[in-house]
Amino acid sequence: MALEKLGKALNSALKKLARSRTVDEATIKEVVRDIQRALIQADVNVRLVLQLTKTIEKRALEEEPPAGVSKKEHIIQIVYEELTKFLGKEAKPLEIKEKPTVLLTVGIQGSGKTTSVAKLARHLQKRGYKVGVVCSDTWRPGAYYQLKQLLEPYGIEVAGDPEEKDAVKLAREGVKYFREKGVDVIIVDSAGRHKEEKGLIEEMRQISEAIKPHEVILVIDGTIGQQAYNQALAFKEATPIGSIIVTKLDGSAKGGGALSAVAATGAPIKFIGVGERIDDLEAFDPKRFVSRLLGMGDIEGLLEKLEELQKQQEFKEEDLEKFLKGKFNLKDMYAQLEAMQKMGPLKQILQMIPGLGYSLPDDAVKVGEEKLKRYRVIMDSMTEEELEHPEIINYSRIKRIARGSGTSTAEVRELLNQYNQMKKMFKSMDKRKLAKMAKKFNF
Ligand code: GDP
Repeated sequence: MALEKLGKALNSALKKLARSRTVDEATIKEVVRDIQRALIQADVNVRLVLQLTKTIEKRALEEEPPAGVSKKEHIIQIVYEELTKFLGKEAKPLEIKEKPTVLLTVGIQGSGKTTSVAKLARHLQKRGYKVGVVCSDTWRPGAYYQLKQLLEPYGIEVAGDPEEKDAVKLAREGVKYFREKGVDVIIVDSAGRHKEEKGLIEEMRQISEAIKPHEVILVIDGTIGQQAYNQALAFKEATPIGSIIVTKLDGSAKGGGALSAVAATGAPIKFIGVGERIDDLEAFDPKRFVSRLLGMGDIEGLLEKLEELQKQQEFKEEDLEKFLKGKFNLKDMYAQLEAMQKMGPLKQILQMIPGLGYSLPDDAVKVGEEKLKRYRVIMDSMTEEELEHPEIINYSRIKRIARGSGTSTAEVRELLNQYNQMKKMFKSMDKRKLAKMAKKFNF
């Protein structure tokens, strides 16, 4: 996971908020201070941190939560929104509109450029595009072999010539070769080193002129932290079109600084590198990234659902308590299933509860409307005792219930199976954790 340390620190700041009894100015200030500390430790520029946290504090103090949303939830939402804005707000996916789309990657040596080119080629191949890679790095002949080694197992062809010294020629010929082959995307990898930086930028200009790429992609090393700002800016000035891949965000203590610095230049971050393997590339979406970083699951969805819940009062407090205590009889099951029908699968709700991330089998919690009606009919033929203590239902009772309800023993068994499955599922959950989480959101 990218920026794990920062994520943990932000998450613990929000947990503190969730645990506090009241939300007053002092609480808000403390949360804001914790967020500041977390960001500064991740090498985010201090000025940017102050701007961001000032906005969070102001909004948290001044804004009234919308109806159906508690103060705590509202503050979490504000933090989420502001962090999302901080990282560029909207996702700007790489678009492959024309065939072939030509991409030129640039970046200084060691940034992870060659690896990223291979990752990107594979990423696009997985999405159904035929990709060709051109190596025009005349400074590091090894780059060509590195690309071949990474991509040949996937049947992605690499064009280049380690003996050739003219980078522009290599790029031009490589693009021509793949155009003739009829690929969908051509990725041109350029040199990452030159006698001097000016030379590198000049070479990039010349290649760009020769191959007219649809997009120039800068690869930036995420471990350099906020220094990424100047690199991204220099690049942005040198090329009018551009997007950025920030690499090595796995395990980098400074990754937050790099991401925010790049975002501050206004250049869109389209991908992040999160490991050394070819599949360790993620399309960058600020919203998804921040919600994962905060460990909130789908926070927007959560807030929406909570609002709905409060409106419908489907999940009554005592129900939840029972549910948390694992006291779960047939009546409870029915109420749960009925409620879930109205508000979407429990699975989704539980997955949205921060830090829980339970993965539930679909069929354990989902039943159709028809089935629910059948369950109702069956349950109407049960005694109060059977409903409260389903474990007493033996074979002769099953026969009696089926007869009484005009259903079959198979259907009664199905109901009981569903019950046992759900009960088992709830039993296996960590009740303390669940209760804590529920409390956190004022269920
Ligand atoms: P180039 O000189 O810019 O072409 O850099 P390379 O692609 O050769 O990468 C330099 C080093 O960084 C290699 O050891 C890569 O395995 C490593 N690297 C690249 N991207 C990532 C990443 O996202 N995460 C990690 N942990 N390592 C990476």
